[in-house]
Amino acid sequence: MFIGHRLQFALATTVQARSETVADNVNSRWNGQFSCYDLVAKTVLRPRSVVRVGDIAIGGDEFIVMAGPCAVESERQVLDTAMSVAMAGARILRGGAYKPRSSPYSFQGMGVEGLKILSKAREVTGLAIITEVMSETDVELVAEYADIMQVGARSMENFSLLERLGTCGRPVLLKRGMTATLEDLLRSAQFIVSSGNPDVILCERGIRTFETATRNTFDVAAVPVLKTVSHLPVIVDPSHAVGVRALVPVLARAAVVVGADGLLVEVHPRPDKAFSDGEQSLTFDQFHSMMRDLDPYLGLRQQADRSFAAAGGFD
Ligand code: PEP
Ligand code: MN
Repeated sequence: MFIGHRLQFALATTVQARSETVADNVNSRWNGQFSCYDLVAKTVLRPRSVVRVGDIAIGGDEFIVMAGPCAVESERQVLDTAMSVAMAGARILRGGAYKPRSSPYSFQGMGVEGLKILSKAREVTGLAIITEVMSETDVELVAEYADIMQVGARSMENFSLLERLGTCGRPVLLKRGMTATLEDLLRSAQFIVSSGNPDVILCERGIRTFETATRNTFDVAAVPVLKTVSHLPVIVDPSHAVGVRALVPVLARAAVVVGADGLLVEVHPRPDKAFSDGEQSLTFDQFHSMMRDLDPYLGLRQQADRSFAAAGGFD
């Protein structure tokens, strides 16, 4: 018994010592290229982290779907969408009140009025809210209404924003920049965690390549790479990744198969009338059928995960 305890203690201290030198702990297959991001790196002691929002666990066993319009446009639009996506099984409502647009002449979002509409939708449906914050001066205000703070692709390297999010008291979903490597993404995640906020969710939303058939190129390998080197949950945004409505459900399937922890999907009551990203937004019917379509893949994944875990998982 005594020897047993000593052995346990020796093992625990070995694990502890190893976790302190993260470079020893990260998968050697990656040549230590991610090893300086100690707070977000997967270690023996921290193989996986779960980000909790109320009773929702992101990065746990449940596949979490976040859905809603690109931008908040009106109360009716948001409430109708919230009710429809909740009925289909989404747990979190998305919707931008502050929109990072590539043109100064495009719709820039409803601002605080949009935040109020989102919060009303939470009251009515019980869905949690994710919405984008673009500037550090808006962090306090957005955190009053949002359950998860979204950092958009264009803001992934806004370091003063990331630093401010370290003390916002809300989980952060960090989108990969359009031309960011996975190393860049993890560096930005480390920024938020080292500023005091451990609740970071990574998001693959497609990157810029020479291909023009799709809006961006969905880096499907990003999911297993991130799941191998980092303990943080990984969400896929198939809408921005592909930019074409008809292709969103098949990318969502791919996200399930490669091990994503969930999805961020754009849905609109009338995509043809949307103020932004209508071409990639699903109708309610299309969202419902996408959710039904994912079911067998989620079932298969559960079975496959058991043997995958037995064979060492993402390690
Ligand atoms: C969005 O989610 O609507 C958005 C602007 O996404 P991204 O930052 O990935 O372009
Ligand atoms: Mn959008």
